[in-house]
Amino acid sequence: MFFDTHAHLDDVRFDADREELISSLPATGISHVLVPGSSLESSRNAMKIACEHSNIYFAAGVHPGEIGTMTDKTIDDLADLAEQEKCVAIGEIGLDFYWYKDLIERDTQRYWFYQQLYLARELNLPVIVHDREAHKECFDAVNKSGVRGVFHCYSSSAEMAMELVKIGFYCSFTGVVTYQGARKSILAIEKLPMERILIETDSPYLAPVPHQKDRNDPRNVRSVAEVIARVKNLSVEEVARITSENAACLFKINLLQK
Ligand SMILES: [Zn+2]
Repeated sequence: MFFDTHAHLDDVRFDADREELISSLPATGISHVLVPGSSLESSRNAMKIACEHSNIYFAAGVHPGEIGTMTDKTIDDLADLAEQEKCVAIGEIGLDFYWYKDLIERDTQRYWFYQQLYLARELNLPVIVHDREAHKECFDAVNKSGVRGVFHCYSSSAEMAMELVKIGFYCSFTGVVTYQGARKSILAIEKLPMERILIETDSPYLAPVPHQKDRNDPRNVRSVAEVIARVKNLSVEEVARITSENAACLFKINLLQK
């Protein structure tokens, strides 16, 4: 059974068939899904989905592309959401100097990233980090703030992956590992100990080959596990089991609880 640690099931693209999709997951081998927040509103919607389904968990956080309207009150509201039993992390939070480099001031991004890291530290929750073209800064920020967590859709070097392992972090991989030109991700997977790897879809984005043009959904997390199995010379079942145990350990989830 697979644990998709990052799927935006609150996205409008799931409005038409969300319930149907979620109820079909166990039969297709997807035992758990973590829905990260990308704005305050999205975090609230993620909470609602998690509260209605025993196999779904959520994270509360504001994505760097959505911080434009953040205030101190938003941090208080995130803290309230984080009190919910199904909230297992603060995320997704981070720095994006690729998509948002001209849209949102770097200093504004930095400021709200740190505020959310401090919140995670205060609440003793792990963080889900979004890092686009800001590898060194994201590393320094999590290292300085003393939190644990995961770099989602890991896109940096094998060397940085090993530095992250040293400070208690995990690296999570998406369908990007099935793309041509995924060499950097493959090198990181080769180097990383299996105990620090997570799998995710980042649905509805980043559908694996050959479905790149389609809406992605948690059932495709198997494609990510297949690549990791090949690189690590393990069976897909072993990758499913180990990555699920890793997620359970990081997010403090009891996999047997229904
Ligand atoms: Zn995401």
